[in-house]
Amino acid sequence: MKAIATTPGKQGSVHLADISEPSGAGDVQSKEGNESPGVLVEVVEVGVCGTDLEIANQGYGESPAGRSVLVMGHENLGRVLKVPPGSGLEVGQLVVATVRRPCPERCLPCANGQSDDCLTGHYTERGIKGRDGYMAEQYLESEDYLIPLAPRLSRVGVLMEPSSIVEKGLMQAYGIQRHRFPWEPKRALVCGAGAIGLLAAVFLRLRDLDVYLVAKAAADSRSARVAREIGATLLDADKHPVGGLGKELGNLDLVFEATGVSAVAMAAIASTGHDGVCCLSSVTAGSRTVTVDADALNLDMVLGNKLVFGTVNANRTHFEAAARMLGAAIRRWPGVVEELVSRRVPAESFQDAFDRRPDDIKTVITFSGG
Ligand SMILES: [Zn+2]
Ligand SMILES: [Zn+2]
Repeated sequence: MKAIATTPGKQGSVHLADISEPSGAGDVQSKEGNESPGVLVEVVEVGVCGTDLEIANQGYGESPAGRSVLVMGHENLGRVLKVPPGSGLEVGQLVVATVRRPCPERCLPCANGQSDDCLTGHYTERGIKGRDGYMAEQYLESEDYLIPLAPRLSRVGVLMEPSSIVEKGLMQAYGIQRHRFPWEPKRALVCGAGAIGLLAAVFLRLRDLDVYLVAKAAADSRSARVAREIGATLLDADKHPVGGLGKELGNLDLVFEATGVSAVAMAAIASTGHDGVCCLSSVTAGSRTVTVDADALNLDMVLGNKLVFGTVNANRTHFEAAARMLGAAIRRWPGVVEELVSRRVPAESFQDAFDRRPDDIKTVITFSGG
């Protein structure tokens, strides 16, 4: 069957491969680590994100043990083809698979279904670290890692993985904040208008916050259109530096940073308001340095009771919550969240999906199940 694969560490090695269909012999494990027959899923489409581009262009990623080639892709949407006896899933059911699998040591979070918070770092990730991904015609997976989706989510289901990451950040922000004091956030700032930033804006608007989205996005861009439709205010990053937005906009109760630029992340912390929370989600793998006014930043955090935390990946709970949020979003703004999928490219033309175009938000590679 067709798959899109790469040799991690070798630039420009992404290729259309012909691989054998999943046999299931011993490579599917339940969440407890027991061998499981697995559910066979036909892939509908797979999203491409910054991580995939890093794997393709900058030698990031890790192939499965004993092999040099990795099947790419983690942002998946599929349809059940075959179920083992006693399965709770049905043939034809739309599903999304989670990405991370627990570490062999079963650290405390991994043992509790929260490999997204793994302590050892020895976890694996489908399509990224030590496990084949979903850019193939079919895959096999334990039911423990498959999230069923309602048919009405078919056009946005491929956004589930990035949505799960956003929803994890927001659920944690609300959870921690409400643990600290009575908290009724009114005003939020989202930095970055890529898929993650826009999804954060959508999910915050669903929570009825006033949302400001600061980004380098032209007023007539697709991102700007989406921001307008959901009632978020788009600010041009060149005219509104993030560090000054706390003063310009009033007390920012929640700041969600998703630009991929560490200097903006530092500014996002500084712009967070009193009793506010700042959620950092950018994976900044470079080595850039910035100078910060450390006394002022620290004083502000202390006197403002500010909370800053980082978030990565997501577990089943967050995927399930993301499905509810996407469902609510397509009901409230019909046709708008669908706009986030800006291009669909057939697997044969995968190269087109890996080059970035100006109006891209989320490019998706389609497979035979689509
Ligand atoms: Zn991704
Ligand atoms: Zn672990």
